[in-house]
Amino acid sequence: MRIRSSNDDATDRQLSLLIGLVVVLAAGVATLDVWHAVVTHAAIPNPLLLLLIYAVSAISYRVKIVIRIRSSNNVTSWGDVPIMVGLVLVPTPWVVLCVTAGLATVRILNHGDTRKAIFAVAKEVLVISATGATLLLFGAHPSADHPQASAAAVVVAYLVLWIVDDLVFHPVIAVASRTTIRKVFLHDFGGRVFVRAATLATVVYVIEVLVSGATLLLLAFVPVLVGCAHLWRSRRLRTQQERDSWRQLADTTDELSSVDLNQVLHIAAVQGANLFSAGEVEIDLTTSGVDRVVRAGTDGVTYDGPGPRKFDGESSITAELETRDRSYRAGELVIDFDGKIKLTEFEQYKLKTFASALCTAIRNAAAYAELQRINEQNAYDAAHDPLTGLANRRELYERADEYFAGRTEDGVVALLLIDLNHFKEVNDTLGHAAGDAVLREVARRLDDAAAPGDLVARLGGDEFAVLLVNLITPALATHRAEQMLSALETTLEVEGMQITVEAAGGIALAPGSGGINELMRRADIAMYQAKRAGQQTATYAHAQDTADVERLMLGGELQRAVAEQEFVVDFQPIVDLGSGEVISAEALARWQHPEYGYLTPMQFLETVERSGQLPAFADAVLDQALAASGVWREAGFDLPVAVNVSPRSLLDPRFPATVLTQLARHDVPPERLVLELAETLTISQLDTVSRALDELREAGVRLALDDFGTGVSPLSVLSHIPVNQLKIDRGFVTALETSSEAAAVIRSTVDLARSLHLTVIAEGVESEPQRHALWELGCVAGQGHLFARPMSSVRLLGTLQRGSGGRPGALASALHDAGAVVRMPRRRASGPGRTG
Ligand code: C2E
Ligand code: CA
Ligand code: CA
Repeated sequence: MRIRSSNDDATDRQLSLLIGLVVVLAAGVATLDVWHAVVTHAAIPNPLLLLLIYAVSAISYRVKIVIRIRSSNNVTSWGDVPIMVGLVLVPTPWVVLCVTAGLATVRILNHGDTRKAIFAVAKEVLVISATGATLLLFGAHPSADHPQASAAAVVVAYLVLWIVDDLVFHPVIAVASRTTIRKVFLHDFGGRVFVRAATLATVVYVIEVLVSGATLLLLAFVPVLVGCAHLWRSRRLRTQQERDSWRQLADTTDELSSVDLNQVLHIAAVQGANLFSAGEVEIDLTTSGVDRVVRAGTDGVTYDGPGPRKFDGESSITAELETRDRSYRAGELVIDFDGKIKLTEFEQYKLKTFASALCTAIRNAAAYAELQRINEQNAYDAAHDPLTGLANRRELYERADEYFAGRTEDGVVALLLIDLNHFKEVNDTLGHAAGDAVLREVARRLDDAAAPGDLVARLGGDEFAVLLVNLITPALATHRAEQMLSALETTLEVEGMQITVEAAGGIALAPGSGGINELMRRADIAMYQAKRAGQQTATYAHAQDTADVERLMLGGELQRAVAEQEFVVDFQPIVDLGSGEVISAEALARWQHPEYGYLTPMQFLETVERSGQLPAFADAVLDQALAASGVWREAGFDLPVAVNVSPRSLLDPRFPATVLTQLARHDVPPERLVLELAETLTISQLDTVSRALDELREAGVRLALDDFGTGVSPLSVLSHIPVNQLKIDRGFVTALETSSEAAAVIRSTVDLARSLHLTVIAEGVESEPQRHALWELGCVAGQGHLFARPMSSVRLLGTLQRGSGGRPGALASALHDAGAVVRMPRRRASGPGRTG
């Protein structure tokens, strides 16, 4: 990633051309000088004098002030003094000879760059020749014994020297340092004028002394004068340079306070090159274990990538990037100069300060980046399912909320809820690792099949959801859903076994109101419908909305429903939480509407209760429940069946007789029937109800108190109606893991039940952690999606026969630590009973 290479070459060519030009000119002028001396029969000067000129010029070149501009050393010297004095004492060619010899000697002793030395010599030839010619022109006569030169001639000659010097020098410096001549000219202009003026004063004074033939004593002042001026100027230059340096360093450290590591490294590299007038600077992080090198010149970054670094030679200086207390190391800082260099004490200190400031900046940026990364990771974790990497429920709700708040441009939105069939069997027979593998593969396939913009989420267990967005028309939802589900059709391989995944999908279009909760509810209903009907997908129909249904039902729909046996019953197994075995089943009514499909109690129950059809409805449910119980018993599963009873039915004096008649008709022992009562009865109703129930209890029918914990006075209900079971409301089970209050309610319910010898059944158990927690709280039975959703009696029988882990009648594996908990005593008279 070198950026400047072609530039470097171009600069080099220009420089060589310029120097060449100066050398050629100097050669020509030198020839002219010699020719003039020969023509004018100039005498050969005293060798001692020549030696003196040589020595003085050598010394004055040696005593020089170094000003570093960028990477080249610019020199201000006192060499002008011997030139001017020499030109007054001896003919020009001799001055050229002595002065350039002095210059060359210094250069050779310094091991300097040859090209620079040649240029310096050529420049001096031009300068001396021009100055000498001017002196001659203004009537000066060089002579060691009787020098003649008017002050005016000296001043004009010196001005010519100055001009020629700058004319030759400035373009070369400008090219070498890649700046403009103007900039070079203006650089420290005041300082240079001062030096020239001081030199001129010295020169005029010395020459006046020489011309007037004064004693050598006076000459003693010259070195003192020159020395003082030199010292003053050096000091001034140095303090100025240091001040500028500090300011630059302070500015740079300010700039380094960014939290963006890239910015820190790039600024530091470029400013480092500026600060140290270096060719290039490298920041090498490889020693700290990060494979990264940043290289920059003063113009900008030239490389940022993996190591190794480029500079390591004699011309570079390396500083450890470490904090002042050496507690943190970030790598190394390498400063490369164009040639071998030794840093002054001040520069060394500056380098250390810069390196430690840079290290602190890198540490801060790295800490910030780490913080940022942790934040991002946390945000990711909060929104994703760790097993499959899909979005989680929370993320789905958030995205849906955005849609409902109108903050997205997602077009028509629908929700597809997917539930795998028989997934529990995979877990039970192949183990959890295989189950996880299946879930991951299902997630991958769904994610691949999703259209851009769709959000695939895992809600937990074997339940997935897809938010379908940008549907051109609502009708497209079914098509898209079927595409997604067909992605699951090909068999997948887990631990060398071919597994077929079956799934049911419920589709619901985003409703106008009710938000994500309503959307979920609808998709859930649709999915349940698909499962029950054995279809791949089902769509929630708008006409199923309660409002519409109620309107239709008022028009005599209920009568037909009863007559046509449209009310059907699903059964949800109730399971022993410890062993996973099914101990009974709850009957839940459904309305199979010819036009609107599958309706849940929530949608029709209220209307049924208010209509004259309640007795017929209740009778139909009881009939089907007892019939199912008979079928299971014949198949070897002697399970009690629980039937929900409306409070209104209990107030009906004919109710107990109907129940007993049905029991007799189906030949089901009364102990095999549990009536679930809502806790919503008022105290005044309780008396009536308890009398009706006494009759049933005496016959042997069991009673359960439903939705326990949600009513106002559970104890007064219990004191009036001696029930056998308490069913803990789903709300407490859902809140169990997050609320200590819910746990406390469950615990006190269990305690109460134990002292009254009642069985406790938890409703809505959806996860293994809930099952565990309930078991540990002493609750021995439960029902919920973890074990099974409500299903037809035929399917329930099939499920019972298939069993779990080779155990017919079981729906889940036994809890491993079941024995560690003291089990509630099961009494034949109060428990729901258990059969295999
Ligand atoms: P319920 O007696 O509390 O019945 C349990 C409800 O919870 C059922 O809803 C069941 O599908 C649902 N459920 C079971 N496990 C889970 C789970 O893990 N998670 C979730 N979220 N829900 C679960 P469903 O079938 O919609 O019944 C609603 C209510 O309608 C019942 O509540 C019951 O009070 C009433 N009901 C149902 N069938 C009859 C009936 O034949 N007669 C009367 N009078 N009421 C009935
Ligand atoms: Ca119930
Ligand atoms: Ca309930």
